[in-house]
Amino acid sequence: MIRVYNTLSKSKEPFEPVAAGKVGMYLCGPTVYKPSHIGHMVGPVIFDSVKRYLTYCGYQVTWVVNITDVDDKLIVRSQERGMPMDRLAAEMTDDYMRCLATLGVDTIDHFPKATEHMGDIIAFTATLIDKGFAYEAGGDVYFDVAKCPGYGKLSGRSVESMEGEGGGAAERKRSRVDFALWKSAKPGEPSWPSPWGPGRPGWHIECSVMSGRILGETFDVHGGGLDLVFPHHENEIAQSESCHGKPMAKYWMHNGLMQASDEVGKVGGRRTGPAVGDQEAQEAGKIAGRHGAQSFLELLDEENLKPEQVRFFLLATHYRRPIDFSIARIREVGTGLDTFYRFFKRYERVTGESFYAIAAPALREDGEFDPGDDPLLKDVAEHRRRFLDAMDDDFNTGGATGVLFDLVRRLNKFVDDEKLEDASGQNASRLARLTQGAATLRELAGTLGLFRKPVEEKADGGELAGRLLDLLVEIRADLRKAKNFAAADKIRDSLAEIGVTLEDRPGGTEWSLQ
Ligand SMILES: [Zn+2]
Repeated sequence: MIRVYNTLSKSKEPFEPVAAGKVGMYLCGPTVYKPSHIGHMVGPVIFDSVKRYLTYCGYQVTWVVNITDVDDKLIVRSQERGMPMDRLAAEMTDDYMRCLATLGVDTIDHFPKATEHMGDIIAFTATLIDKGFAYEAGGDVYFDVAKCPGYGKLSGRSVESMEGEGGGAAERKRSRVDFALWKSAKPGEPSWPSPWGPGRPGWHIECSVMSGRILGETFDVHGGGLDLVFPHHENEIAQSESCHGKPMAKYWMHNGLMQASDEVGKVGGRRTGPAVGDQEAQEAGKIAGRHGAQSFLELLDEENLKPEQVRFFLLATHYRRPIDFSIARIREVGTGLDTFYRFFKRYERVTGESFYAIAAPALREDGEFDPGDDPLLKDVAEHRRRFLDAMDDDFNTGGATGVLFDLVRRLNKFVDDEKLEDASGQNASRLARLTQGAATLRELAGTLGLFRKPVEEKADGGELAGRLLDLLVEIRADLRKAKNFAAADKIRDSLAEIGVTLEDRPGGTEWSLQ
């Protein structure tokens, strides 16, 4: 039984979708006015794994991520760049899509755009006015928080404690905490005709409209960063539940934010904490520091990071905890991944088959196997159970990745103990057991979107570097034979400093690039 921590009840609840066997999931997407940074990738990678896991457990999952392509920030940026807002939005949406594809986030079913749902947004706003939950004031439309007794139930805040937005709009509102559903356009701004005059939607309303349109009035999982609980998700709930008279989403899942650890303040001036009610500050607050605000694709390129390293790094922490961001930490996690890559090569040497060609079960029930009395298979089954327990417990990807390390260590030990790298140690039964273990590893890692295809080897240095490394490995072997361990160690340590790892195996020494 899967259990999910629900921000609404502040407890872990059994996961029971509204309609048996089907799951509707909505994640608040980006405002596309600048290139995505690594903080924007946290939610997509986590919820991609949540979808993979639920699918693996037999659910039919529909996942929606919205694109905010009309917004104050888009207007400002398009004016700065002297380009139409829709072109800026298209350019930055492309960037976002490239980031997702790079990280293997390819399970999102719908990317609705605010500008493509203008009619629905206007109709939804008109319904809220008709029902007495919203009012028009000077071409703007505001939600009347005083009419919504449950307001504050998600964030646990009382209306009295809320500051609300000040500024020019404050004079037109009945209360400071009321928020805009529709904003009138200033001359020269992009606008859409509406019963209240030309204008554009507020940020919160688009999520209420598009989630309801695609997933229904009550759907299963609403996700987002912890910084969106208030006001964004509180306002989504107020709008949707006032309009439909029923719960908006059953489970509210919030991921922890990325925070800079060693990089805070290097390039000063960015806020490190989200300010209430300020969308831009909420985004800026996700991470501070030099790399935090940098375009994700540039970051990968400049720091020479492999996308799988980043994916693994994002999943190595429990999704509800903050992720400490630093390049050093990503590299450290990446080094851990090499343990798997080395095993894959080993598996290929032993069996003659690629790890990536193993047909692993796509469904949980198909991955069950009878280990009998075999010690290896019993351990594999036990690791599989631990992995599934971790994932069932509120998608504890951090615990689950830890189990993958244990499993690969166990498989390596089997290869060592049974001398499978020597022809003498090989027989059909041992190879079958190894393959069962590797298939389980591939099955489980697949639910996290890991090890789906071979990682491209870095091309730098190319063939010559490879031959030089082979030569150094050979010289080091000679030195060891001659018991000149100091010189042999110097080669290993110096190579480690420039990012080459040497690993001594029964069959010889292997080098790999970090
Ligand atoms: Zn939203």
